[in-house]
Amino acid sequence: MGRYLDSSCKLCRREGMKLMLKGIRCETAKCPVEKKTRNLAPGMHGWRRGRQSEYGVRLREKQKIKRFYGLLDRQFMRYFRQAERIKGNTGEILLQLLERRLDNVIYKLNFAPSRKAARQLIVHGHIYVNGRKVNVSDYTLKVGDKIIVKPSDKSKKKIKMQLEVNPNYTTQGWLQLDRDKPEATVVALPSRDDIQIPMEEQLVVEICSR
Ligand code: SF4
Repeated sequence: MGRYLDSSCKLCRREGMKLMLKGIRCETAKCPVEKKTRNLAPGMHGWRRGRQSEYGVRLREKQKIKRFYGLLDRQFMRYFRQAERIKGNTGEILLQLLERRLDNVIYKLNFAPSRKAARQLIVHGHIYVNGRKVNVSDYTLKVGDKIIVKPSDKSKKKIKMQLEVNPNYTTQGWLQLDRDKPEATVVALPSRDDIQIPMEEQLVVEICSR
């Protein structure tokens, strides 16, 4: 499966907003989006942000969500087709499916500083779901699933160290975290308010349905 290997900050600059792709650095003044002089779209003509066409507006919304969750086009479209098949508001269902990805949940639990780091934890076999090792980051969690850390000192120490970086961190209501073990349970499906990226999912549905 392909992976994006270029600069993460470039993606945020292109979208003109913080996508929080680099963990701790994103909270500091080093973030290029924080610096007015560096917050330009990448490339030689980055300072020229002209008026966007209707297609351009929709395309930017789609790119924003793909980049936020670290997906390539084919992976994203697979989620979209799946969301279309489920009864209800396609945009919201799409976001809900993306939010339930294992790498996103590991990040939301603060087991890793970013989604990229969460993916590495999963691929390296540090995460178990319902007692079984899961080493695919696109695993979709459902209500009742229990996420535990591999029962080894090395894995537990790694996660505990990350949890200590931000002791006041609170998880969203749909996830229940036990910091001491550490382990977590999915107690509900995520709501639209739990999805923190400011975006208009209806525009994404419009461009993907073409
Ligand atoms: Fe880079 Fe993070 Fe800032 Fe995005 S939010 S520009 S990834 S430091």
